[in-house]
Amino acid sequence: MIHQIASRCLKCKVPQCSKNCPVSTPVPDIIKLVEEDRLQEASEMLFANNPLSAVCSIVCPHERNCFGHCVRGKKSEPVEFFKIEQLLSGKFLDDYTPPLIEKNNIRIAIIGSGPAGITMSILLSLKGFRVTLMEARDKIGGVLRYGIPEFRLPRDIVNRYEPILHKLGVQFKPNTFIGSSITLDDMFIDGYKAEAVNEGVKFIHLQQAIKLEKDGVKCIAVNVEETERGKVYEEDFTRVRKVPADSILVAIGQGPQGAVTADSSVSKTHRGLVDADENGYTSSKGVFAAGDIVTGPKTVVEAVAFAKKVAGEIEKYCLEN
Ligand code: SF4
Repeated sequence: MIHQIASRCLKCKVPQCSKNCPVSTPVPDIIKLVEEDRLQEASEMLFANNPLSAVCSIVCPHERNCFGHCVRGKKSEPVEFFKIEQLLSGKFLDDYTPPLIEKNNIRIAIIGSGPAGITMSILLSLKGFRVTLMEARDKIGGVLRYGIPEFRLPRDIVNRYEPILHKLGVQFKPNTFIGSSITLDDMFIDGYKAEAVNEGVKFIHLQQAIKLEKDGVKCIAVNVEETERGKVYEEDFTRVRKVPADSILVAIGQGPQGAVTADSSVSKTHRGLVDADENGYTSSKGVFAAGDIVTGPKTVVEAVAFAKKVAGEIEKYCLEN
């Protein structure tokens, strides 16, 4: 099937698919490798460019990115590159063998194992850093596990990242909440050279909670209408849905919790998010931030793009300081 999809690609000189991908996936190069049956190289290229390629190939809004911008879509059907990506990346996770990595002695703490945290852990450990990944819950994934419903992203895909992190030498610390008994400052004293915070939450917009139940929250839809006098919100009692939940946190008017709120030297924005620049630098030396905690809720691939940039900055910072 993947050869059939690949054969439709025109290998555009200026590929709109790549141009409109937040992580600039080199679509035509990968398709060329597929046509030459060099599947392992194609998979490696995908993983090197986006360690969460297996996730993004499933949950990305393809119609807004590669698929939606493919030039073949002007006259006929766009190239379904995401199907190639799904097949190659899923298999790659199963067979993953890390390269030989010469480890340095620089320790980096990554707080939060959502998409940005996993991406940074993989990229920085591949660069030789000793990475510790701390997670408040007992399993990795963050929003991938607890925010995206199972029918959209099978948990099996998220689980497959555990052995990968292990093989790369990432030390995973579950049930570790930074901010109460351990602070960011404590971790610097403990010998970490840089810390990256990226815990995040997923917001579900235009839903009004009407009932808390044992296994979730019953919500009704809220319609929004732009009028001359501003936005008018109207509840729609005919559209009821249940948001599944293991635990319900009533968080009204509160910002990020944990590491950031406990550390007053990390500036926050008026929305309560971490005030970091586009490279992830915060107001606190050696503390970086990426993902939803900086931008608010975004797509997984946008979190990966941000995390890639910040991982590069952390590397530079650690080697120069
Ligand atoms: S835009 Fe479409 S046809 Fe062109 S390189 Fe990308 S996938 Fe291939």
